[in-house]
Amino acid sequence: MGINVRKDGSVHVRAPFWLGKGVVIRMVSARASWIRSRQEALKKEPVLPKNNEDLNLLKRKALLKFKGMAIPWVEHFRKTYGVEPKKWTIRAMDTRWGSCSSATGRITLNLKLIYKPDECVEYVIVHELCHLIHPDHGKGFYTILERELPDWKARKKKLKM
Ligand SMILES: [Zn+2]
Repeated sequence: MGINVRKDGSVHVRAPFWLGKGVVIRMVSARASWIRSRQEALKKEPVLPKNNEDLNLLKRKALLKFKGMAIPWVEHFRKTYGVEPKKWTIRAMDTRWGSCSSATGRITLNLKLIYKPDECVEYVIVHELCHLIHPDHGKGFYTILERELPDWKARKKKLKM
């Protein structure tokens, strides 16, 4: 059985058809405190500005901040691996924190990172820089990520909270 709390706070339950309604209700009730804490966490999640002017202002602010944080890393990757990003883009995304096209050298960062701790932003930056060398999430990719940012797992975990 799967319980999912969606962004709007609604609760969605997936259960096999043969499971009795009473059983489903009991199982959901048993997870009531977890559901409530998810709903509370969602309420605290910052909401991006609605009007375009404010949104663009925030994007510019984010780009400045993230690029500033990336400078020493870009320099390091250029010297060490001979790669460097050609362009940085900021976009509000729902399903990922960043992306990298090794073909065009464009790194895209999620605008919502602006609400996350710096150490998490740094993790996403380094993650995407590693993709300039290895486009996939293969062994080679993780070897470099692990070498460059040994505590990446803790940062990734923090990012999800
Ligand atoms: Zn990746």
